[in-house]
Amino acid sequence: MTAERKGPLIVAVGSGKGGVGKSTLTANLAIALAKKGVKVGLVDADIYGPSQPVIFGTQGQKPQAEGNKPIPLDSKYGVPHLSMGHLVAPGKALAWRGPMAAGALGQLVEAHWAADTEVLLIDLPPGTGDVQLTMVQKFKPAGAVLVSTPQDLALIDAARAGQLFDTAGVPIIGLVENMSGYACPSCGEVSDPFGAGGVEAAAERLELPFLGRIPLDMAIRQGSDAGEPPAAGDGAMAEPFLAIADKVQA
Ligand code: ADP
Repeated sequence: MTAERKGPLIVAVGSGKGGVGKSTLTANLAIALAKKGVKVGLVDADIYGPSQPVIFGTQGQKPQAEGNKPIPLDSKYGVPHLSMGHLVAPGKALAWRGPMAAGALGQLVEAHWAADTEVLLIDLPPGTGDVQLTMVQKFKPAGAVLVSTPQDLALIDAARAGQLFDTAGVPIIGLVENMSGYACPSCGEVSDPFGAGGVEAAAERLELPFLGRIPLDMAIRQGSDAGEPPAAGDGAMAEPFLAIADKVQA
């Protein structure tokens, strides 16, 4: 990764479509990096569904401002963060036109991040809209991580999102397969509701690194909804996120 601007390295997390676990990965990757001693901040730029306040348990909090710049909120997981959801009422940002959304992104990225912040993870909206364009053109991320489920359609969209970064000269750090294999909590049988291995195969085809897979696990959804992200715990659920963090760090 190379830095072209002053301040923390920006790592964007993108997906081709919504609901594939981009926010879940971003939050848990940030926590995993913090556990490894990286000074990390998180920007939730997903105007269509800012979910980081729920995942970090900071819903309803209003960030203080200093000189017009918001001060990131602390969390018990060592990840200061700011979300579109902290700046506007739920659902409001949805009606924003491109320039407004892009302006809000600037506010979040250029907030009062601690001077020793090394990495800023950006949870992008799904797809390839104005926020993504501003991200790559104005803030020049050091790299991008792409998340997809193994389904063909999600993969095709993820590849398209990858093209946006590629065209802008943003290196793709790698692909993550989320919701990969489901272990039935009552009988233990493992099934693959969205298929399996599709993202790894796509990474090979596109000559991109494959960063790892995260199983479809009810505990991940429950932890996220309860403000207790799995990467923060000591259990097996933290492992895939820690392994992905290792590869992102490298
Ligand atoms: P996106 O940011 O791509 O829209 P989210 O991270 O918000 O997706 O995830 C969508 C929903 O799926 C959330 O309820 C989240 O808790 C759940 N989810 C994400 N990844 C997993 C997983 N591996 N296992 C179980 N639930 C998951």
